[in-house]
Amino acid sequence: AATQNQRLTIAVQKSGRLSEQSIKLLKACGIKFNLHEARLLAHSQNQPIDLLRVRDDDIPGLVMDGVVDLGFVGENVLEETRLERVATGINADYKALRPLEFGQCRLSIAVPKEDSYQCLTDLNGKRIATTYPYLLQNYLKQQGIQASTAVLTGSVEVAPRAGLADAICDLVSTGATLEANGLQEKDVIFTSQAQLIQRPEALSPAKQALVDQLLPRLDGVQLAKE
Ligand code: ATP
Ligand code: ZN
Repeated sequence: AATQNQRLTIAVQKSGRLSEQSIKLLKACGIKFNLHEARLLAHSQNQPIDLLRVRDDDIPGLVMDGVVDLGFVGENVLEETRLERVATGINADYKALRPLEFGQCRLSIAVPKEDSYQCLTDLNGKRIATTYPYLLQNYLKQQGIQASTAVLTGSVEVAPRAGLADAICDLVSTGATLEANGLQEKDVIFTSQAQLIQRPEALSPAKQALVDQLLPRLDGVQLAKE
């Protein structure tokens, strides 16, 4: 595994909403990278650090399994992975290092505008389309609601119109996507931002020293932005 070599391996989203700011933050901490190509692994030019560029959904598992040392991930994906792994008996430990000031969004339940929805209990017996079945079922259980889920990894917002579900549970930031699909946001079930996490097992002294150097820099960069 990447964790057996001497270079600190950090997983970042390859391309998406967390990519740019994750890289920008590392660069602001003085770590130089050349990301000119579509390589999976990018070596820092001035530090013994490698970037592994993958889909955001893979990052929590890679960190929990100790395949990489650190990862930049959205708390929504982190918590979904954790719940799924706990439910299936797979190690779900990680170390939370820092909350980060980007990637803010919320996971919300939305229903078609014309729906007579009053409150959560109206979802009893209904079907909800989502990419986050564990976060959703966890919430419904806490609220004492019994609803089924339709798991979709994309196009969740079209599910009601397509007759696949009565409601959706999806990420929202401005609400424009919901609006465009004739949906109305009803309940926020989880609020999220990006987080820097570390694998559960101890790092080698050399890698730990790198992390100890990185964190105060990261705090400095985040403070300066406030
Ligand atoms: P991938 O191909 O890596 O799987 P994706 O399509 O699943 O990408 P993105 O849409 O890039 O993922 O979102 C990545 C993460 O960014 C989300 O899981 C969430 O934590 C965060 N996010 C989602 N929506 C927003 C938003 N509007 N603004 C900022 N961050 C967001
Ligand atoms: Zn994803």
